[in-house]
Amino acid sequence: MLLEANNGLRILLDMGPGVLEKLRRIGVDPGSISIILITHLHLDHVSDLLPFIKLKALSGRRLFRVFGPRGIGEMLDLLVSDRRLFGYLSDLGCRDIVEIHEVWDDVLELEPGIILRSKPVEHFNGVAYRIDLPSTSITYSGDTAPDPRLIELARGTSILIHECSFPADRLKGKHTSAEDLMRIASEVGPRILVLTHIYPEMEERLQEYLERFGKKLGMVVYAPRDLDTIEV
Ligand SMILES: [Zn+2]
Ligand SMILES: [Zn+2]
Repeated sequence: MLLEANNGLRILLDMGPGVLEKLRRIGVDPGSISIILITHLHLDHVSDLLPFIKLKALSGRRLFRVFGPRGIGEMLDLLVSDRRLFGYLSDLGCRDIVEIHEVWDDVLELEPGIILRSKPVEHFNGVAYRIDLPSTSITYSGDTAPDPRLIELARGTSILIHECSFPADRLKGKHTSAEDLMRIASEVGPRILVLTHIYPEMEERLQEYLERFGKKLGMVVYAPRDLDTIEV
């Protein structure tokens, strides 16, 4: 997911498969992205990160920042430096253009007036993020089971982007069901709720659930498709 602020700042939320191709399709130059927020180290959230770093290195772009949970630095160092893996990437300068920031329960200023908060959540060394901009705020859950720390992080946020992996009767793993998300969203009270990380079991009942969300919650609810844009 790509966030674009009024001042031109572009932030990517996770880097799963296909992100580079989707950026190409919407005409966004990867060189213009200066911040990447990684929620956890599962493949569907990091698989395009190395190709992205290589592309940036080859196109001679400047330093950019990657924020992620504990272990992301070690993972990248290993992948980019170990000759049995992708060690050739360090010859291309890949490691030199990435500034890694490991986060957990943190608050920091990304740019003047833009605050990033992170909180650990219940999902395999995962973190959720909240970004406060002068005119709006966005909270992104990443993958997580229902977690009071996420609710605490998100309270008062304008836009809540939350995983909605399964209907409750098909729930698997450390994820959030649509039923749980209705409860979480009513507690957080965002202006806009964006459903993400929708598995096929959820996808096939999406319409039914969107109607249920609409009836239960007094907020705008979106389940965006690839390449959709939401302007706020
Ligand atoms: Zn995951
Ligand atoms: Zn995932």
